[in-house]
Amino acid sequence: MRVAGALSGLMANRTKFQAIKGTRDLLPPDTELWNRVEQTAREVFGTFGFGEIRSPIFEPTELFARSIGADTDVVGKEMYSFDDRDETSISLRPEATASVCRAYIEHGLHAWPQPLKLYYLGPMFRRERPQKGRYRQFYQIGAEVLETVQPGQGGTKDIPKDAAVDAEVIEMVMTFFARLGLEGAQLQINSIGHAAENCRRGYVQKLKAALEKVKDKLGPDSQRRIVTNPLRVLDSKLESEQAIIAGLPKISEHLCEDCAKQYAEVKRQLAMRGVKYAENWRLVRGLDYYMRTTFEITAKGLGSQNAVCGGGRYDGLVELLGGLPTKGIGFAIGEDRLILSLQEAGKGGAAAGRDVFVAWMGEKAQAAAIAATQRLRTAGFRVELPPVEQKFGKALGQADKLSARYALILGEDEVATGLWTVKTLADGSQAKMSEAEFLEKLRNEVKK
Ligand code: ATP
Ligand code: MG
Repeated sequence: MRVAGALSGLMANRTKFQAIKGTRDLLPPDTELWNRVEQTAREVFGTFGFGEIRSPIFEPTELFARSIGADTDVVGKEMYSFDDRDETSISLRPEATASVCRAYIEHGLHAWPQPLKLYYLGPMFRRERPQKGRYRQFYQIGAEVLETVQPGQGGTKDIPKDAAVDAEVIEMVMTFFARLGLEGAQLQINSIGHAAENCRRGYVQKLKAALEKVKDKLGPDSQRRIVTNPLRVLDSKLESEQAIIAGLPKISEHLCEDCAKQYAEVKRQLAMRGVKYAENWRLVRGLDYYMRTTFEITAKGLGSQNAVCGGGRYDGLVELLGGLPTKGIGFAIGEDRLILSLQEAGKGGAAAGRDVFVAWMGEKAQAAAIAATQRLRTAGFRVELPPVEQKFGKALGQADKLSARYALILGEDEVATGLWTVKTLADGSQAKMSEAEFLEKLRNEVKK
């Protein structure tokens, strides 16, 4: 519907609006957990030397088509694309790695101290079937390490360095999860080699041949993928295909010497960092640009949408987008799923609450209550000040509903003597004290 049509329709029926399918409003107290998760990410990633990048949420469609791959589900059927008024095609970002690489090239970030470590957080958009842990607007927290290859560098020499970078990036995600108290996170790793005849390309030929032989036993999706993207067949969750897939050739037996060395070194580096992992030869990841190290982390309490983080190495992507030969490794955490998993485990945190509810009565008391509230808020406490006078009974009932810790009772007596009545709501006890004494009590007893 055109904008004008939408407007007249609206005036005629006073339509009640609903958020668009697959999008949602995040409300308190859930948003407290969202903020805690994001704050923790900033802190932990900061300790690893990462800085934040904020990129646009829409980009030229071509950027995603070229980097993610035109044959992938993401580009083929999940993107929100539209023609701008000048008829260029624009898409809402389905992920952010392409944008980070674009920014790296656009701003000449190869001239910054290398490797360049960036993290991002924000909404992504994919037109998928909405269900638990799968939305059309969802949020990712991700990071990328980029390093432009200097003349005379790269190749076999770099294997130990690249492997250490891979392992440190994975260690950072696991550290972040541990800091949040996420239990039962499981890391799976794999190497998908690199695009060469003696490595992945050769393997994909063998895989294709093996798949052709069992084609009749596969479902329509996998049959199609034999032609478009045979590696993706390994990703299948279809029960009836599992036994067949188990008998297919494995990439670990077809890696070239350098890729095999790199994979072995990543495992050694993870072990040195105390990071536990399981190997999964079927982990190929959905996006085309990955090479060598791929990894995925699953969490509990999420049903079949249990992947909370996916990542991998993507040397060559920056070059593919018109930049210099550059190495890259990164990951994206599904923040919605991470939050769901924390909530399922009872790690959602307490409801918002207030530290102090100011129950006041009388005109003089209002002025004192406003002044007291200002000073308590300045000291960093969460204070609720009712806008109109209430009977004390009603005020205390409201303080209770808001899960306030203390009620500060200000009536004529308190104003005259300068001694406040402080009621502790948990046990109903009550005491008189000066403002300084109350502040002292709050500082000691309220965790900030
Ligand atoms: P899946 O196999 O679950 O579709 P994916 O391989 O498409 O995941 P990536 O592109 O690797 O996912 O994105 C990284 C993470 O982002 C995923 O592990 C997941 O936690 C999250 N994610 C991806 N798509 C969605 C979505 N539609 N809704 C919520 N989270 C998502
Ligand atoms: Mg997906």
